Amino acid sequence: VKHAKATGRTEVYHPQAFTIARAQFAMETALRRAIEQEQLHLAYQPICDLSSGRIVSFEALARWRDAEGRMQSPTDFIPVAEESGLIVPLGRWAVQQAVAHLAQWDARAGGNCGVRMSVNVSAIQLHRDAIPTLVDRVLADHGMKGDRLTLELTESAIVGDPDRVSTIMAALKALGVTVAMDDFGTGYSNLAYLQKLPIDILKIDRSFVTGMLADRDKIAIVRAILGLAQALGMKTTAEGIETIELGQTLAALGCTYGQGYAYARPLEPDAAWAMIAAQA
Ligand code: C2E
Ligand code: MG
Ligand code: MG
Ligand code: MG
Repeated sequence: VKHAKATGRTEVYHPQAFTIARAQFAMETALRRAIEQEQLHLAYQPICDLSSGRIVSFEALARWRDAEGRMQSPTDFIPVAEESGLIVPLGRWAVQQAVAHLAQWDARAGGNCGVRMSVNVSAIQLHRDAIPTLVDRVLADHGMKGDRLTLELTESAIVGDPDRVSTIMAALKALGVTVAMDDFGTGYSNLAYLQKLPIDILKIDRSFVTGMLADRDKIAIVRAILGLAQALGMKTTAEGIETIELGQTLAALGCTYGQGYAYARPLEPDAAWAMIAAQA
């Protein structure tokens, strides 16, 4: 630290930066072990059709209770997984696990249980792993059709090699998989990709949705996204709906689907199944 002060390079030698780097490395080591030992699990949050109120899908969200019993947030460990490359085995596991749970719900329902599964795929995963091959194999393992699966990609996933991205997305479409653009409005601002890539759903980021009724600017942004999606023939999902009133407003504005604490928090598989059984 003395040296840092002498050279003025406080950003490099700042003790806090060192502590953060060390904490990330510790998390990476613990996460690697957790993946190997299958200590992660998935929670499932319903996505509802806003006009009928029916659950149409569940989003699989990674959960990690570490060796000390503390819940680690995906907003902390997913970036560590991305930086370290652990997102590849984690992401494969998530697709396998989520589809296996959907297959279990189908088995309990004695056929198609009537909901789909939505799985998050990060940019790094999309570029480093053969996602269409993985999805094809996992679906085949369970005798399931591609139209039961939605992949949620972020805008960062489609930056970079445009030909490669269209090839991957065309392969996913050929499998019948639905593609949703997650956290829409927070990433890449060049909208040209919307006319080139086969995107089915725009998922409006929670930062525009939560608290929208008290914020004219947020309402304006949400309306603009809904208008854009409608004009392009895409469906919309609003995330972060924390009140029923907000869900009703979004339905009136023409938003197709909604997700948020107003309907349900992310659930354990059995609780998710109970919701499916209740609406059958
Ligand atoms: P996301 O894909 O945008 O998922 C939605 C997040 O919003 C989830 O946070 C969910 O619990 C939270 N949420 C849903 N409704 C509400 C609400 O009404 N209010 C509030 N305040 N929050 C709500 P979570 O589970 O902490 O996940 C955070 C992010 O971590 C996800 O954001 C996703 O980007 C990433 N993630 C989680 N699981 C995976 C995974 O298996 N693979 C990859 N690549 N990313 C994942
Ligand atoms: Mg998502
Ligand atoms: Mg999202
Ligand atoms: Mg989000």
